Amino acid sequence: MSSEPLIPMVDTLAWHKPVQQELRSAATRVLDSGRFLMGEEVMAFEQEVGTFLQANHTVSCANGTDALVLALSAAGLGPGDEVITTPFTFFATAEAIVRVGATPVFADIEPETFNIDPLRVKEAITEHTRAVLVVHLFGLPARIQEIQRLCEERSLLLIEDCAQSFGASVNGRMMGTWGDLGCFSFFPSKNLGGFGDGGLITAKTESVAEQLKLLRNHGSSAQYRHERMGFNSRLDEMQAALLRVKLKHIARYNEERKKIAEDYRSCLQGMDVLLPTGQEHVYHQFTVLTDQRDQLREHLASQGVASALYYPMPLHQQPVFEGLPMTQDLFVAEQVSRHCLSLPVFPGMTETQVNRVAESVSRFFSDDSAEFAYWFAGVAP
Ligand SMILES: *Cc1c(COP(=O)(O)O)cnc(C)c1O
Repeated sequence: MSSEPLIPMVDTLAWHKPVQQELRSAATRVLDSGRFLMGEEVMAFEQEVGTFLQANHTVSCANGTDALVLALSAAGLGPGDEVITTPFTFFATAEAIVRVGATPVFADIEPETFNIDPLRVKEAITEHTRAVLVVHLFGLPARIQEIQRLCEERSLLLIEDCAQSFGASVNGRMMGTWGDLGCFSFFPSKNLGGFGDGGLITAKTESVAEQLKLLRNHGSSAQYRHERMGFNSRLDEMQAALLRVKLKHIARYNEERKKIAEDYRSCLQGMDVLLPTGQEHVYHQFTVLTDQRDQLREHLASQGVASALYYPMPLHQQPVFEGLPMTQDLFVAEQVSRHCLSLPVFPGMTETQVNRVAESVSRFFSDDSAEFAYWFAGVAP
């Protein structure tokens, strides 16, 4: 083990240190207000996020998983409806589809972006398809224009899972405003990470936004009047107040992530590892592909560098989806899940830390090629 301090995947204390005073005064403001649900902070946060994203309507909720469930419910999806999505994402994406009674249909991903392949989406469409739930994984937008065009042609709803892509955009238009609905998570490690759970939905039309507001609050339009079955899924005042502070700095946080990615890229270029790229990437994760994934992970651990497997098993291979009929092969997702490794990226990560991670990775590949050369020389005639 290295004697140097561990480099974690995320260090929220380092991240928040520069805004500690702002956070404390926001928290105190809520404590002193005596109001903890459905108050001014939530209203202000929804408005400020709406302005940042340039979204027509924003409705906050308790977490990102609920954001997906509420969005799918508000869109009227349920039993008999098929929703096309990626098998290479966090479980909640598909879980939400099943929660509303609809059926997830997996379409394979592209190896370069880890995102759903528009051609495979097209192949997956049947007479029961009602929606495409696209994920902008690791902070990189999926091929949203092609998918949007396809959805328009086939009269399908387009829903975006933006849990990992807050602040990412394509042609200046924010992710979460391309589809009919956009779903966000404020889980602490996400790009706009909160201090507990939190979520948000963007909606294109006012009528859908109204449904979302009913759904998150027991289907209630006025006190003790219930229009439909709903949920208890509200963002609280404390989260909203703290998130307002972090929202003010989100552009800088995403710039910091991009800078770390640039540094990794310049150090690791030319090595036996595939690096992520993309102008529009906000690097929720910096995920590489290598055929020596497990060895690299062990090597990094021995150097005191954390790494993570996002995601080691594609969703169609999860025990809970055994028996779900497969309509296409998902070869790329299966390959990628065996070869992917995510390196530490977080705002507040120091240059020294970034260099240590990059050096640990490059040492692994140079030692490895030295070993290979030695082995090769030994067996060569
Ligand atoms: C984090 C995440 C979610 C769920 O968000 P929670 O706030 O943890 O419920 C959904 N989809 C993706 C892609 C995620 O990364």
